[in-house]
Amino acid sequence: MSTDHRHRELILRLLGPAGPEVSCDECFELLDQYVDLELAGEDADARLPGVRAHLQGCPACHEEYESLRDLVAQRSPPAFWYDAR
Ligand SMILES: [Zn+2]
Repeated sequence: MSTDHRHRELILRLLGPAGPEVSCDECFELLDQYVDLELAGEDADARLPGVRAHLQGCPACHEEYESLRDLVAQRSPPAFWYDAR
């Protein structure tokens, strides 16, 4: 059941050049991936289209995003920075 839904979602995502809309639930589910990508220096907006747009328009999710980003940044310091010295 959910496979069909996911498939449809993927197609919609591929078809939407303007950036597909994500709901708060979807945004919340993608948030940790988004933060991971961003902290890894990846283009999070390109990998997870719609999340940034949602964050810009949704103060609740944006707040969640900021606290998650702080949390992740504190929890997983880039170990290689220390090793590289
Ligand atoms: Zn939201």
